[in-house]
Amino acid sequence: MSTPSNTRPLAGAARRRREASTQELPDYCARPMCRSPFTRIVGPGRPQAFCSEVCRRAAEKELRQAKSLLAHFEDLTAQLRVDIAAFGRGGLSPAADTTATEPATWQAAAAAVHRVSGVLAFVGDNDDPLAQELRALHAAVSPVIVDHTT
Ligand SMILES: [Zn+2]
Repeated sequence: MSTPSNTRPLAGAARRRREASTQELPDYCARPMCRSPFTRIVGPGRPQAFCSEVCRRAAEKELRQAKSLLAHFEDLTAQLRVDIAAFGRGGLSPAADTTATEPATWQAAAAAVHRVSGVLAFVGDNDDPLAQELRALHAAVSPVIVDHTT
């Protein structure tokens, strides 16, 4: 059935397709601290995102460091929010420093607190640490929100 005379044009077409699929594109390294231009070979498989293997490994490490830094500051932020709300309970007005806060921000915060109320009703008396944290956060934040939205 298949003779050399009719397989040759097919092989030629396949070669042309492969050439068309290995197109080159200018791109920039996905590592924020690099962003060097490089030529990316477009083809099957995962697209090359970094200018080099060195950059890919460095980016993995920097991503881990950035995530742990973010977690650290999120913890600090959460603690500071609780502390600020606690000042309000001591008779000081935490709101005095935040008069510039947009009404829309307060409304968004009120909506979030309202949703957490719903979640807490669903959670019930669960002693899970996350549930306890959520209850503590809700208890601390809701008086501040009520002060500002009523
Ligand atoms: Zn790079």
